[in-house]
Amino acid sequence: MTLLIKGGTIVTAADTYQADILIKDGKIALIGADLEADGAEIVDATGKLVMPGGIDVHTHMELPFFTTVSSDDFYTGQRAAAFGGTTCHIDFANQQKGETLHEALAGWRAKAADKTVIDYGAHISITDLRDDVYDEIDSMLDEGITTLKLFLSYKDMYMLDDGSIFKIMLKAAKLGMLVMVHAENGDVVDTLIKQNVANGNLAPIYHALSHPAWSEAEATLRAVSLAQVAGASLYVVHMTCEESVDQMTYGRKHGLPVMGETCPQYLFATTDNLRQPDGAKWIFSPPVREKKDNAYLWKALADGRLQTVATDHCPFLFDGTTPITYDGEVYESPGKDSGGDDFSKVPNGTHGIEDRLPMLWTYGVGAGHFSPNRFVELMATNPAKIFGLYPQKGTIAPDSDADIVIWDPEATKTIHWQTQHTRTDHNIYEGMDLRGLPEKVFLRGKLLVDGDEWFGVKGEGKFVKRRPFAEIV
Ligand SMILES: [Zn+2]
Repeated sequence: MTLLIKGGTIVTAADTYQADILIKDGKIALIGADLEADGAEIVDATGKLVMPGGIDVHTHMELPFFTTVSSDDFYTGQRAAAFGGTTCHIDFANQQKGETLHEALAGWRAKAADKTVIDYGAHISITDLRDDVYDEIDSMLDEGITTLKLFLSYKDMYMLDDGSIFKIMLKAAKLGMLVMVHAENGDVVDTLIKQNVANGNLAPIYHALSHPAWSEAEATLRAVSLAQVAGASLYVVHMTCEESVDQMTYGRKHGLPVMGETCPQYLFATTDNLRQPDGAKWIFSPPVREKKDNAYLWKALADGRLQTVATDHCPFLFDGTTPITYDGEVYESPGKDSGGDDFSKVPNGTHGIEDRLPMLWTYGVGAGHFSPNRFVELMATNPAKIFGLYPQKGTIAPDSDADIVIWDPEATKTIHWQTQHTRTDHNIYEGMDLRGLPEKVFLRGKLLVDGDEWFGVKGEGKFVKRRPFAEIV
């Protein structure tokens, strides 16, 4: 199949220019002025921007959490992604205690199986470092998995001690794998949660008060320091505040290969949201911070202190007692209210895979924080580079996958959960206005989304194998 995108303005991380794009067999074949191709299907992109599809490197589809499971499965979550202009994501295969890494990966792949509609990869989370698991790490490379997620938090659940973390980092350095960390001090968080619960401090705001910013700062600098000693590259997920970004910046100033991500919720939400009657919607970890942190993170994205925006997409219903209708089918699942009035029992997580690009365009580019090129860099190019997918994905160049978003910078809408495609019953950006939306979304040259219309086919999303020794940006 041959496709010719004509008349658009191509935006990459480096350039903005007018050109046509010829697509053959799912790849970009040629870029140039006034291209012609016999028999090609023509897509008119006049007046529109043409950008690489978004890559969300931090998602949790169908993740078991407390008594429930995150409400987007691989189909509904990937479809939501596509409607938001994202054509590739990397999800986490989490090792359960007693499991091997291969068992964890097989279980995760079985869930994705034939539901996929965009391309996807996996990180492996190591939560139980036995000798056999340590020996197994090398073989993850054969599966196309180059990233190891480690938790400094979630004591007695996922958390590893510093010795285990350091051992894994030493091995990762040798194999060219990237270590990703959830950086909060698990002992501090665990102690504060227990004290607050014991004292009857159960309201959602105590979630934030049990996860202080300086505990994130401590864990961030500890991870940076351990990575320095091990000679490993490090990627800190979901950074929320000035205190922790400062610690990472300290590492980068010393020339260390350390990088950081933030997520939309940390750019928009604050502890005021937790104090609302429906505050449980904003319970995720690390927690929301303050207005000054929102502002600090916007600056850090603009000036290069932070390298990516991902989402930690992990939605739940809010009111799990009332089923919703999704795609004509009734969907029911215990929601955030299953935690009752106790913040410590509320499933942690929120949505974002569909909201990420339009929110960051409207409030990032539109508000003058950064350029369209920096937007592409944060949303697609840096994620592809850091995670070993570049230049197959993350840019518009000859031989790259034709994962393309035709973006209408003038299109507007207001966010309402009913018209978003994530399978949940609320949206934490409810009522916010957007200017700049995906108009058409292509995965390897195949049309997935055209306005409100859906053309994706279940099973057509491909698992992407990634390469080690990826770029540091
Ligand atoms: Zn996560």
